[in-house]
Amino acid sequence: MTPVLFDTHCHLDLEPLKSELPSLMNEANIAGVSAFIVPGVHPDGWPRIVALAEENRQIFPAFGIHPMHAESVTAQVLESLTILSTKGIAIGETGLDPVYTVPMDLQEMAFREQLRIALHLGLPVLIHCRRAFRRVLSILCEEHADQVGGIMHAFSGSVETARDFIRLGFAISISGTITWNNAVKPLQVARNLPLEHLVLETDAPDMTPQRYRGTFNRPAWITETALRVAEVRGISTEEVARITTDNALRVLRLHDF
Ligand SMILES: [Zn+2]
Repeated sequence: MTPVLFDTHCHLDLEPLKSELPSLMNEANIAGVSAFIVPGVHPDGWPRIVALAEENRQIFPAFGIHPMHAESVTAQVLESLTILSTKGIAIGETGLDPVYTVPMDLQEMAFREQLRIALHLGLPVLIHCRRAFRRVLSILCEEHADQVGGIMHAFSGSVETARDFIRLGFAISISGTITWNNAVKPLQVARNLPLEHLVLETDAPDMTPQRYRGTFNRPAWITETALRVAEVRGISTEEVARITTDNALRVLRLHDF
């Protein structure tokens, strides 16, 4: 069955979501959210993600090391990632984020190594990037990541930058930040890019939509993001759901699932 709404980035393996999972999944299903990608952030969390995906067919696992945990990358960790990722639908999340104190050369090394594994396995990549878009673009080019593509998770760059990533075969993921009262760039991105290149996510438990700010985010609230995209584009929420879900299935090559 084709999912109605696809949450392409939610950390269901982390607290406070983990201990409330059955009720959160039920609530999401009622809201029409029936596919979820749970990206890895640290090797210690990978077994939890494996277990979640085995328990629930709606959960798609991805394995990776977040830039804030780049220090955990060793030859052995990369070998485990390669083996485990034969069960994953993508590599990630990985990327660059100068907001963290982790040295940038270390982040770059971890990012490049994960891109090489993605290319080796032919898997798309889930990219975390803040304030380093030019650098991430050049690394993606140098590592030939256009051969696998992927998703720019919770994209916070400009419309022009988004177009550069789209040219490399990456979809642009819209998160709850477009519902925030101070939203500027994400709104421009949601309004101006071809809908064929957009996907949706919550990044739960983070990035809670405006209406619920002050509490942790949950996958059901992806409807707030879909609604806002529909508003700024002047189309129906159903159409936003249908097209963004189809985009996610295409970019992640999940049509056979
Ligand atoms: Zn994340």
